[in-house]
Amino acid sequence: MKLIDRIYINGEFLLPHGAELMELVNPVTGKPASTLRLADEVDAQRAIAAAKAAYPAFSRSSREQRMAWLQRLHEVVAAAEDELVDVMAEEYGGPVDVCRGTARRAAAAFSAARAILADYQFERQAGIAKVQMVPLGVVGLITPWNANYSFICGKLAMALAAGSTAVVKPSELSAAQTELLTRLLHSAGLPPGVFNILTGRGDTVGAEFVRHPDIAKISFTGSTAVGKSIARGAADTMKRVTLELGGKSPTILLDDADFARAMPIAAAAATMNSGQACLAGTRLLVPEHRLAEAEALAVQAFMARKVGRPREPGVVIGPMVTQKQYERVQALIRRGVEEGARLLCGGEGKPEGLEDGFFVRPTVFSAVRNDMTIAREEIFGPVLSIISYRSEEEAIEIANDTSYGLHGYVFSGDVERARRVADQIIAGRVFINGLYDEPAAPFGGFRQSGLGREFGVWGFEAYLEPKALMGYAQKL
Ligand code: NAD
Repeated sequence: MKLIDRIYINGEFLLPHGAELMELVNPVTGKPASTLRLADEVDAQRAIAAAKAAYPAFSRSSREQRMAWLQRLHEVVAAAEDELVDVMAEEYGGPVDVCRGTARRAAAAFSAARAILADYQFERQAGIAKVQMVPLGVVGLITPWNANYSFICGKLAMALAAGSTAVVKPSELSAAQTELLTRLLHSAGLPPGVFNILTGRGDTVGAEFVRHPDIAKISFTGSTAVGKSIARGAADTMKRVTLELGGKSPTILLDDADFARAMPIAAAAATMNSGQACLAGTRLLVPEHRLAEAEALAVQAFMARKVGRPREPGVVIGPMVTQKQYERVQALIRRGVEEGARLLCGGEGKPEGLEDGFFVRPTVFSAVRNDMTIAREEIFGPVLSIISYRSEEEAIEIANDTSYGLHGYVFSGDVERARRVADQIIAGRVFINGLYDEPAAPFGGFRQSGLGREFGVWGFEAYLEPKALMGYAQKL
């Protein structure tokens, strides 16, 4: 069994002070995969001290120098795409195309940040003041397991572009992926201490980041519950926070949409990353008079989404990341049945031939009311809730009747109409008639889906603070 026992501080791979061991299980086989030695608070403090020491020089580095470093980071990650895919498929169990997408987004994050840095105007005039956008200091980056590489690189790229130094705490469940990525990032040859990466538990290493006075900002992606505790904890030292949290995003099929064309896309939106995606479109809103047609097509589209092992041809849905996550999805499916939703396909239990791993049957419920648990709670598995509506106004009302606000999807034969509906959805992003990827656009949520935005110039400015200088031309 593989032992993962290094953390990365000040440019060195060290044994952690923390001695707690954690066993990681392969989600495809259900068998032990590796043992992880977890970092602890002392390790976190060391990492923060290294980032603090590296900050003065790094924050004064030139735009050109930082662009060169970002280019180098891009190159080392891009060159290792196949290895990144292999390790992610092995540890996380995601279908290879999903893993490839994650590896590519990780590499692209550095080139996107470099492009923003190339054009960004750090100094502007405001009346008699010269306003400079200055880096924040040391930032703490805390990431989840569902797209480990791209979350780490997305946050790190923007922090470094802005001139901050970083401490990174990835999810415990992604230790092998983090080990590889760290090795690659190290090979880019940035000054020691500029970024430090250590895997430990959220309530030890993560909590130390949140508490520590030398950290100026936390950028967190993960569950809403932990996001709230971070926001509360950050208040004591007035840390800036960017929080990317959960979602329960609506997909609205308007009554003029071509359902046969829309449904495979809606099913992909509901089950992307095996359903373990914060932006998944998990509530499907369909007009009452076309409900039967929508139900039949949804079942067909879900049945076509093949579940299986990462490298099996045609597989688009992998296992849940852990037994615990599997059980959570099972409990929510059970809850759906208990609360009176009508099960159209899937349901509890594992798909045939996949009994060893944490695989879930792609599940579609109809006759879901928007106040049922399966319509309120993020399930984080391939489970769709069909909810019918009587008018466009009601569709918008249901879409917005959620504590979240991360994403929305609208399908219509009339783009103008889709646009009008999209304008009324309370969400950080809305996709019309398709699935898209635009790293220059902001990403993040309204309401309990988070705080602030990542990506694009909005994500970059989240690592900067304005400072006004007046009288700079004044002689005494
Ligand atoms: P999680 O919130 O349990 O953990 C996320 C990270 O936070 C991990 O690194 C974890 O160790 C750390 N953490 C846990 N407790 C902490 C604490 N008290 N202080 C500081 N850090 C702590 O989430 P998860 O189970 O890893 O991921 C699944 C959840 O993440 C889902 O609910 C999903 O919606 C959400 N998510 C959101 C986005 C987004 O961009 N909005 C993306 C992916 C996942």
